[in-house]
Amino acid sequence: MSKSAKLAVLGSINADHILNLTHFPRPGETVIGEQYNVAFGGKGANQAVAAGRAGADIAFIACLGDDAIGERIRAQLAQDRIDTASVETVSGEPTGVALIFVNGEGENSIGICAGANAALTPDCVARHQQVIADASALLMQLESPLESVLAAAKIARAHQTQVILNPAPATSLDDELLALVDIITPNETEAESLTGIAVASDDDAARAAEALHAKGIATVLITLGRRGVWLSEQGKGQRIAGFTVKAVDTIAAGDTFNGAFITARLEGKSLHDAVRFAHAAAAIAVTRPGAQPSVPWRAEIDDFLL
Ligand code: ADP
Repeated sequence: MSKSAKLAVLGSINADHILNLTHFPRPGETVIGEQYNVAFGGKGANQAVAAGRAGADIAFIACLGDDAIGERIRAQLAQDRIDTASVETVSGEPTGVALIFVNGEGENSIGICAGANAALTPDCVARHQQVIADASALLMQLESPLESVLAAAKIARAHQTQVILNPAPATSLDDELLALVDIITPNETEAESLTGIAVASDDDAARAAEALHAKGIATVLITLGRRGVWLSEQGKGQRIAGFTVKAVDTIAAGDTFNGAFITARLEGKSLHDAVRFAHAAAAIAVTRPGAQPSVPWRAEIDDFLL
């Protein structure tokens, strides 16, 4: 049976509390901030929103707390064209929280409390396995319990659902999980955590990509910030430059890239064209503050690429 070009995203949902200040506080230091905002984030939700706004047919598997902000986030996800039937509300738990400092250079420093995200257990994944089985691709990150990411990858593999893993935040991973991944999208730091190879040049990226291919991953995309990405398929690698824009903050740059990239792939775009589409979406996102508020809609991406 052929599948529809449906996307499943599995991952975290957080309320982001963002404080802009001139410099990051050192231990023991208090810095008065210039601006404070609450925005909806979490890598899973950000990538789901990026895909939804980019035009994907998308279902989200995630967990919210039974609090007021959880209800607001669920309503917002629906407005972003996301099927939330597999977003569970967990009684007695708060919605996940991220505390984000942004300094004068637009860099960020983040602390997270998992809250309801910890309830995305393998049992929870199993309750929604049909969503994974019905999808053409499953997009995940590492803000959810690792055993759940592994359980979901196994379900995907059993149903010929392509697995795309954004291995963020940075950690090392078991070969068992990596062998179930079809496309991996680390940034430079994450690529180093996975391979032990510091990625400071295109040559380094090529070597890190080879190390990931050796784990059984067919397609490796190492995102390189403003330098673009290193795209590698078995034995063949190339850097695809991004777009030059004035960055305000890079929160959700990678998330926007991932959501837009897989959306374009599911539409049948080539790897190269899907990367260009994702570069455009991420370039727009870095010109705007915050996580989900910065994620562009399809019309904006298409206009940017004209
Ligand atoms: P992450 O946010 O996961 O650390 P990167 O910083 O590597 O990921 O950025 C992901 C993508 O976002 C890049 O491949 C690029 O498309 C885009 N991007 C990031 N920073 C910039 C920037 N300063 N200017 C333009 N595009 C950017």
